[in-house]
Amino acid sequence: MDGDVIYLDYSASTPCDPRVVEAMLPHLTETYANPSSRNHRPGRDAFRALEDARATVARRLGTRSPTEIYFTSGATEANNLALRGIAQARADRGRHIVTQATEHPSVLEPLRSLQLEGWDLTEIGVDENGQLRLDDLAAALRDDTVLVSLMHANNETGTLQPIRQAAALVHQRDVLIHCDAAQSVGKVKVDVSDLDVDLLTLSGHKFYAPNGIGALYLRRTKPALKVHPLFLGGGHESGLRSGTPNLPGAAGLARALELAVDALGVEGPRTTDLRDRLEQSVVGNLEGCTINGATDHRLPGTTNLSFAGIEGNALLASLPDLAVSSGSACTSSHSEASAVLLAMGVVPALARASLRLSVGRFTTTEEVDRAAGRIVEEVQRLRSLARRR
Ligand code: PMP
Repeated sequence: MDGDVIYLDYSASTPCDPRVVEAMLPHLTETYANPSSRNHRPGRDAFRALEDARATVARRLGTRSPTEIYFTSGATEANNLALRGIAQARADRGRHIVTQATEHPSVLEPLRSLQLEGWDLTEIGVDENGQLRLDDLAAALRDDTVLVSLMHANNETGTLQPIRQAAALVHQRDVLIHCDAAQSVGKVKVDVSDLDVDLLTLSGHKFYAPNGIGALYLRRTKPALKVHPLFLGGGHESGLRSGTPNLPGAAGLARALELAVDALGVEGPRTTDLRDRLEQSVVGNLEGCTINGATDHRLPGTTNLSFAGIEGNALLASLPDLAVSSGSACTSSHSEASAVLLAMGVVPALARASLRLSVGRFTTTEEVDRAAGRIVEEVQRLRSLARRR
């Protein structure tokens, strides 16, 4: 990254790990054939490399069946495929879907578009920590509910949801559960058998693989789930995702997942310590600074802070030396208050005065200390300007 800018936006995107780049390179220059061209040897080599990547991803997600992994262009596509694909495949059973208000737009928007096409949608609320109440979920389930979609970790606050308990509730009613784990994969343990979810979304650029590669886990046993594809074409990925597979991306995703899962025991505590150091240096040196979201059940690297008496956008503008975001990257072009924070009951003025800071694999203690000092300095400066007005 640019020497003058401290990167604290790992929740938006991570740099590619050099070991991931190394794993990808041969597939750009050597195994470049189309994995579907199995009539010649280069094509068969590419096919084998793709299947190796699929098997690695499957193993690291806790399934022994590589046929349950479908490569996509990222989490947005995997979420759309899961939600529209299941809704359409199950339309004859019922047309009611349940989600929560703090989901990512790539879950909420496809569900709202299904609503316009005749599906019924219930968006359940969250408590002040951004956590789902299991009683609300139980109350939302109906005889015609076919699908529940809940994120594992929130992209703005890092709050973790009780997915396993939610899955138990949902399965009692013979309903399917999809989990958007784009933020949690690679940062905390994500095992599809432990979580007991039917579909799960992940995205490479959140854990040191490049942008533009992701995957959908889709349960294929007890019984095999049917999903309608989003794209029609050559029938790649067992007919679920037509389009020549991105082999370099898939190989990078597999390597990145392997590295992240193997390092969880070391990186989890390290990023937690860095995040806590950053958070405490800011909160401990400023009045009127609050932490948004659960402080115990949350991702290791994420913190979301509100600063009374200032505007988040003014603070962002005065910190050109820090790469941070107000709300999530996906909504940072809008100046409205974060819908996630509002759903947690944060008052609009504070929701508009919030920063998301996220540390990761390459963050240093020195960067965290410098960043905390700059945030404290600029918040104090903006507050004294506001007082003089
Ligand atoms: N879901 C969540 C929770 C996310 O944080 C993101 C990325 N901001 C996405 C989905 C979309 O991921 P992608 O960029 O891979 O489409």
